Amino acid sequence: MHRFFLPPDAIQGETIIFPADTAQQIQRVLRLRSGEKVTVLDNSGWQYSVALTDANRGQVSGRVLEKSPVQSEPPVHLSLYLCLTQREKFEWMLQKCTEVGTAEFTPVLSSRSLVQDKQTYENKHSRWERIILEAAEQSGRGRIPPLNPPLDYTAAVETARATNDLCLIAWEEEHALRLPAALQNGPANTHLALLIGPEGGLSTGEVDQAVQMGWRAVSLGPRILRMETAAVVSAALVIDWFETRTG
Ligand code: SAH
Repeated sequence: MHRFFLPPDAIQGETIIFPADTAQQIQRVLRLRSGEKVTVLDNSGWQYSVALTDANRGQVSGRVLEKSPVQSEPPVHLSLYLCLTQREKFEWMLQKCTEVGTAEFTPVLSSRSLVQDKQTYENKHSRWERIILEAAEQSGRGRIPPLNPPLDYTAAVETARATNDLCLIAWEEEHALRLPAALQNGPANTHLALLIGPEGGLSTGEVDQAVQMGWRAVSLGPRILRMETAAVVSAALVIDWFETRTG
């Protein structure tokens, strides 16, 4: 079943008017015809089963058959803080971590980040939002994770601390506290921030600074993971923990 996030004005009661870019995709790329069904998402947690009623000459509309809440959003709000890195790697992290269930992304410029200028981000912003959107549609998410503007390291750790219940920093030199152990007693709806360092690692000073603000350094095990591996693995561990715990 094809899934499309649509803006609020496309959903008019029982009628769906597909915006031009989606209409083009439905007709030219997917070659769907009147009567075929698609799923429409409103980015606020609802999905609509829709039968296409009219699909010709660039106009596509549909009729709502059923409206239901999306069941796939995780019970934890995971905000990932990812140090900026080369484009392919960053895009891969955005795509995979969206599939896994991340709620929002913030790029971070740390002292050893491979990419140090915010311009890189500004040039790529709409492309990266598109990657997140497509990953959210493909994986059946109910919400599109926002991509926040990049922050310098200090601003990132301060902002995250002010807006989350629990802040975790993945650090390969932490040998005692494994990530799942740091989640014990976390209530549902926990807002959790998780920071992944760059290829060159975080400096001890950066980790100390975060810890002094109330972050906890966590281990992903005794092996050194590449940053993109660390991002996906840690996001999956957090979401799995909240989705499968009982009681
Ligand atoms: N350059 C460092 C490794 C950096 S790995 C070195 O060679 O020692 C990139 C990022 O992935 C790290 O900053 C950290 O956030 C995360 N990471 C990788 N392996 C990890 C592990 N075993 N435990 C916790 N975090 C890890």
